[in-house]
Amino acid sequence: MTDRVGELIQAGELDIGDIVPIVITRTGIQYDCEIVQVSCPACGETFKGTKRDAGGFIAGHQAYHEFENVQDLMIKSMGGI
Ligand SMILES: [Zn+2]
Repeated sequence: MTDRVGELIQAGELDIGDIVPIVITRTGIQYDCEIVQVSCPACGETFKGTKRDAGGFIAGHQAYHEFENVQDLMIKSMGGI
């Protein structure tokens, strides 16, 4: 990976365990980012990317599946059918 300094690397080119020296995002710069892969235990969707983005994937799925699980109770409590 170090021989590609200055090159734009597409996500599809990354392998699990790769260390990306610099990742520039809308909100900041991350250094020495390890590429990981995680799967949602509820639905099986899989994500590959930096640990920070994997955390967002996990948090998003957790929020989504919790919402799905309580949706019927929410509808009843709000006077719905
Ligand atoms: Zn999921």
